[in-house]
Amino acid sequence: MKETKEIAELREIINEARSEGKTIGFVPTMGYLHKGHTSLIEKAKNDCSKVILSIFVNPIQFGEHEDYEKYPKDFNRDKILAEAAGADYIFVPSAGEMYKEGFKASVKVRELDSVMCGSFRPGHFEGVCTVVAKLFNITLPHRSYFGLKDYQQYLIIKKMVEDLNFPLRVIGCPIIREDDGVAMSSRNKYLSKNERKNAAILVECLNQAANLIKDGFTNLEDIRNTLYEKLSGNPFVSKVDYFDFRDSETLENISSIDKHDFKSPGSNLLIACAVRIGGTRLIDNMIFDTNSF
Ligand code: AMP
Repeated sequence: MKETKEIAELREIINEARSEGKTIGFVPTMGYLHKGHTSLIEKAKNDCSKVILSIFVNPIQFGEHEDYEKYPKDFNRDKILAEAAGADYIFVPSAGEMYKEGFKASVKVRELDSVMCGSFRPGHFEGVCTVVAKLFNITLPHRSYFGLKDYQQYLIIKKMVEDLNFPLRVIGCPIIREDDGVAMSSRNKYLSKNERKNAAILVECLNQAANLIKDGFTNLEDIRNTLYEKLSGNPFVSKVDYFDFRDSETLENISSIDKHDFKSPGSNLLIACAVRIGGTRLIDNMIFDTNSF
């Protein structure tokens, strides 16, 4: 596995691979890898002849009081995991390599970026789109792999690729979970033992919502209120940012299933939440197949 910090060097490697007719799979990450990340690398390796992994903690997607400075890092461990999963190249640029003095550009996907996480993290998705657009232009992938754990991010990147005609396919990959159902996340490292135990409340509430819907409840506002109360009542939950029912393609809010028209192709019910456990913000979601009701 080759490693580089420089855009110019990576470009040369990619030009050579492309001129040999190789298909390039790209997995962007912020590092501190876990099985969620390695599942994306494995999928990319399965589909493509060369896999590029990027590790870059992108300063412009973090708010002022967020965890940019303390974001967990362990590059030596990441290299071992990445190579074992099948990565051929790791791109690890510095912030200075990605954002030269006087950097001015930005990429925004309107509307989809202003609900759910977007309303609690202003500017976050603009930072994500800008860095991902840059990384696509640097790595020139045929396919890029994103986890459905960050569902809103996946949807926004897919829209950016479609609207701006990036010549690549965005592939969404399933959420990888711990044994108790908690979605794997680099940020789980921040949790104390008791907080980690209580973090299972997110997936419990998602499952409970899905079960109520399966049982025939159609008033999602009522379900939302019940679960909002359950979440806020947990002593380890310091804040519930949202517990939402949304159309999985438009992110339109859905208050009652029988009244919502899932009309766009691929439209399903997205159940998603963002909750703070102590000082750590966790997100999780589930797609509920609307063909099943
Ligand atoms: P991050 O390093 O957190 O920016 O994540 C990099 C990529 O890994 C994103 O596409 C995430 O959605 C994906 N990812 C993170 N956690 C998981 C998980 N538990 N399951 C699947 N994909 C994940």
